[in-house]
Amino acid sequence: MKINELFLSIQGESTFSGLPCIFVRFCGCNLKCAYCDTQYHSEVNLELNVQEIYNKIKEYEPVRVVEFTGGEPLLQKELVQLMRLLHLEKYTLLLETNGSLALQGIPDYVHKIIDIKCPDSGEGESFLIDNLHYFLPDRDNLKFVISSERDYLWAKDFLEKNQLTGSSILFSTVLTKIEPRQIAEWVLTDRLNIRFQLQLHKYIWPPEKRGV
Ligand code: SF4
Repeated sequence: MKINELFLSIQGESTFSGLPCIFVRFCGCNLKCAYCDTQYHSEVNLELNVQEIYNKIKEYEPVRVVEFTGGEPLLQKELVQLMRLLHLEKYTLLLETNGSLALQGIPDYVHKIIDIKCPDSGEGESFLIDNLHYFLPDRDNLKFVISSERDYLWAKDFLEKNQLTGSSILFSTVLTKIEPRQIAEWVLTDRLNIRFQLQLHKYIWPPEKRGV
């Protein structure tokens, strides 16, 4: 499997936010978001098989939370095989995915963090609507990354149309584009029943720092 980086950090954007977590960043993505903060994802720095990845993850014991990210992890053919092995070893598994590729076949024990790209990302049409069938509100997150008022209104409309509500739905910001306070105020004005969050790791370390 083609890996850009594998590292220990603090989970920064989900309902697991704040927990120490081992990140496996896979190479390659099928989208080109305007605000992509991991454009280096195409650099292949490690080529490892499933067992070798497991061995590297094990080096971080006793941390038992692993997140697959990218790039887009679903482009990796052996991903489910890796998930099965880690699940057998009692790891908690998170999958960060851009929402454009089918989630069918991803085991229920994996916590999915599913992006729904808003218009200002430049990929606003990319979400695969069938993926809502695989969203399990008790386990998964739906995430909207918001750059503007247009994005906010689009996300709000998407929630209404699809009757989605609750703490598993995340609104977060593109820090360089919009003040977090602005989104927080809209959420409160509209009494939205969602979770507003900030990318925690970008406040702990410089936003451009890699491997965190
Ligand atoms: S889906 Fe993620 S990795 Fe791919 S271009 Fe968009 S922000 Fe970057």
